[in-house]
Amino acid sequence: MSSSSSSGWSSKKVCVVGAGMAGLAAARELRREGLDVTVLEQSAGVGGQWLYDAATDGGDPLGMAGVHSSIYSSLRLNSPREVGGFSDFPFRPTNGGGGDVRRYPVHGELLRYIREFCDVFGLMDAVRLDTTVVRVAMAPPRRDGSLRWTVRSRHNGDAETEEVFDAVVVATGHYSQPRLPSIDGMDKFININMNVKNARMIYIICASILYEARGMFLYNEIEGRTKAGMQF
Ligand SMILES: Cc1cc2nc3c(=O)[nH]c(=O)nc-3n(C[C@H](O)[C@H](O)[C@H](O)COP(=O)(O)OP(=O)(O)OC[C@H]3O[C@@H](n4cnc5c(N)ncnc54)[C@H](O)[C@@H]3O)c2cc1C
Repeated sequence: MSSSSSSGWSSKKVCVVGAGMAGLAAARELRREGLDVTVLEQSAGVGGQWLYDAATDGGDPLGMAGVHSSIYSSLRLNSPREVGGFSDFPFRPTNGGGGDVRRYPVHGELLRYIREFCDVFGLMDAVRLDTTVVRVAMAPPRRDGSLRWTVRSRHNGDAETEEVFDAVVVATGHYSQPRLPSIDGMDKFININMNVKNARMIYIICASILYEARGMFLYNEIEGRTKAGMQF
């Protein structure tokens, strides 16, 4: 984007939908250009996928019940720190802060980094949490022909409200709605109705896959432990 003074963009209002890494990066860059940015985020915190949620969509395998994050409790990054952060704000280990200093740290370390990014660049005053965008539509254009967008949102359980913006950035992520495969014999698979989106304890999935190969012994083991109070 060219500089705000020469482009006349500085008076524009921009809505960013989603406060995951993409939305926050967009918000920071747009603000740097001097635009008036509002980030609308449905969750109670920033971080998107990295805001781990022990809750799952449970009996709703298509994942439409409202839990956004798909990460499981023991997840570690599969990308190294060097490529995991924003280019001018390196994802450094937080030794002093008691964080995970490994090159491929646990998910909470990335969430800590994202929150630090927000603090350092003062982004939180642009973020409205617990606010779900339910509709984005083109508004009647201005007299000069420039386009505007109506964003309808709902804060917690409140009534829906509408605001008009000059531009909208949709950064809602694409890993929160699972695809369910259709595989012959699936009905014979161990009766744990979950896919990766809804898994939080990954060893249960491994165990259930092994069940097919190893037979009843493992099933009994899982069943026994489940009855003894293991959490899914
Ligand atoms: C299991 C798993 C492991 C991963 N591991 C890695 C890894 O090791 N390294 C890596 O680089 N990447 C990894 N990823 C990819 C990860 O998704 C990206 O790193 C990054 O988090 C994507 O950011 P995003 O902002 O695009 O989307 P998200 O993080 O999904 O953020 C989207 C945000 O939009 C919000 N939102 C959605 N709809 C609305 C709405 N209607 N109104 C308001 N807000 C809304 C959501 O609540 C969320 O906060 C992994 C993903 C998964 C699922």
